[in-house]
Amino acid sequence: MNTQIPAPAVCPICNGSGWEPAEQSGKVRRCRCLESARVERLLADARIPKRYEHCDLDSYVPNHESQKKAKMYVQRFLDKYPQIDVGLLFLGTCGVGKTHLAVALLKHVIIQKGDGGLFYDFRDLLREIQGSWNSISQTSELNVLRPVLEARILVLDELGANKPTEWVRDTIAHIINCRYNDKKLTIFTSNYPDTAGQPGEETLTDRIGARLRSRLYEMCKVIEVRGKDFRREIKQANYRF
Ligand code: ADP
Repeated sequence: MNTQIPAPAVCPICNGSGWEPAEQSGKVRRCRCLESARVERLLADARIPKRYEHCDLDSYVPNHESQKKAKMYVQRFLDKYPQIDVGLLFLGTCGVGKTHLAVALLKHVIIQKGDGGLFYDFRDLLREIQGSWNSISQTSELNVLRPVLEARILVLDELGANKPTEWVRDTIAHIINCRYNDKKLTIFTSNYPDTAGQPGEETLTDRIGARLRSRLYEMCKVIEVRGKDFRREIKQANYRF
């Protein structure tokens, strides 16, 4: 992604003045180059991993009925945004495109709606919070947590991927509860199912606890995504001569 903010001096519309002619003759308005610079900055601040920068709704190919539905829900969410008060929880096995859809949604909110947002892999977030932990004051640096708590829209990828220690549960409960109380939208993805498919299979409740799982019911619409592992399909296709 090009995170460079174009210098106003090179803008061919305003010649660096920041103003462009409006439709009504003799009037001017803020040049569109300033808006595109703002969007570039929001995209850079969103921390979308390079591997997912290409993701948008058009490039999501639904091969399974549930993927068609998932894509439709994302589209509906975006059509309604910002008049929407529940987030989304994508559940499904690896490689079915949960993160792809979550990033597509986040990018759309930034590019088309002009709102800021943030992407975090659940494990990276906990690592960063842990890294800033001060054992004397028993607190974490607010500069890691603040953007997560304040982001207009937050994508939390791979919920439950960490070993569910008491600290992990307390930390995630704090984040989720703060965002819930502030009516902030959160989009979650998780590889853990709601109900065990086979005996012994771990569920999302096993990973994050019943209380948090119940909170997620209030905050999110659950979208189950099924299908083949897209990464494996692509690899197999590449091996075929
Ligand atoms: P998950 O989050 O479900 O594990 P990802 O979203 O990480 O899956 O998908 C893995 C890779 O496959 C990504 O590069 C993603 O863009 C791609 N991908 C997955 N499903 C689809 C799909 N249905 N259409 C297009 N690309 C897909």
